[in-house]
Amino acid sequence: MMGKIFLIDVTNRDGVQTARLSLSKLQKTMINLYLNDFGVFQSEFGFPTTKHETNYLRANLELATLGVLKPIRLSGWIRATVEDVERTFEMVPEIEHLNISISTSQQMLQGKFKGRKSRVDVLEQMVNAVEMANKLGAKAIGVNAEDASRTDIDFLVEFAREAKAAGGDRFRYCDTLGYDDPFSIYDSIAKIADEASIPVEIHCHGDLGMAVANSISGAKAAVDAGQDAYINTTINGIGERAGNADLLSCVLALFKSKGFANKYKLGRPIKLNRAFKLAKYASLAFGVPIPLNQPGVGQNAFAHASGIHADGVLKDPENYELYNFEELGRGEPEQVETGRMICSGEYTGISGFSHIMGKMEVSFANASEARKILELVRFANVEAQIPLTEDELHFIAKYPEITRRLLTLTPLE
Ligand SMILES: [Zn+2]
Repeated sequence: MMGKIFLIDVTNRDGVQTARLSLSKLQKTMINLYLNDFGVFQSEFGFPTTKHETNYLRANLELATLGVLKPIRLSGWIRATVEDVERTFEMVPEIEHLNISISTSQQMLQGKFKGRKSRVDVLEQMVNAVEMANKLGAKAIGVNAEDASRTDIDFLVEFAREAKAAGGDRFRYCDTLGYDDPFSIYDSIAKIADEASIPVEIHCHGDLGMAVANSISGAKAAVDAGQDAYINTTINGIGERAGNADLLSCVLALFKSKGFANKYKLGRPIKLNRAFKLAKYASLAFGVPIPLNQPGVGQNAFAHASGIHADGVLKDPENYELYNFEELGRGEPEQVETGRMICSGEYTGISGFSHIMGKMEVSFANASEARKILELVRFANVEAQIPLTEDELHFIAKYPEITRRLLTLTPLE
């Protein structure tokens, strides 16, 4: 049977590791909701051993239990050590999915571990961590080889085999430095998928501008070898240094490119018309504008100025457009307030708040209920430092207790 291609978005893990960028816990939650709606298979939603993540992670797992964050899987990222696995299940007992990570390249063994770890040590540490995660109740485990692209291929095959034997469900091939090209990554992943018989996650970075191309090529390699492929993405390609593989670009490549369109099966259906909203929200939350020429969602993605192109596209859009803007959820006029504006803030009062919520047709049972939600909105503004969006306000009004947990950031000890 032909393998399927799944999307694992890592915006809430790799994206938030990016220098100068961060998200509030409410924003991370909104991103999980949007990713679920878009059709992403799994969101790598954070760090289970990091104290300020605990309330957020547990609150999101409760949203999953309530059926709000469903069917998306929520997975945590940890180092491949028995201690981190144990701490994970102590701090976030409800967690079911994990990716555990260890460096595998000679460069990292020498440069990071300073020769203290041999390959044998790496294998042993990984196997112990995977076995402990299984013992403590993990339902699915991805095993990450950090810097896989600079790791000896035979060692990677051995690593993937041992990961599988220990109970790992997937092998994550991390092109941590964006060193691969579409040809080299195809060969490496084809060999691993074939010789270790394990589904492969493809995690690519854009240091050489090839993150999307490498992801697609790697996915093809896994599927050609009879395995499922899991592409790691971030929204708008936000990520460390030059960024990760952009989620929408990967989806468009799978749906629209010459070699992929209608040839590969996706693990979950994608609602492409949510793409624009997703990209805009991430841009707002990170405070990073969408580049003018961003595939699909950039301001110029469907703009034509030159005579020949404008004439051609007016006669038939397919002359100069590979896909339609409406498919991506574009084309609706956007309302921008140009006169008086009342927006939420950390010092918002009941009058302004009632005005905002009234405009959104949200009503409250009584005055004390309204004041309770207002208080949460104020706290949410302290964290976000930008006026809240309508969706965020709706979320707070609908799930006040979950919101309270998201906003509780109490440093302990
Ligand atoms: Zn990464």
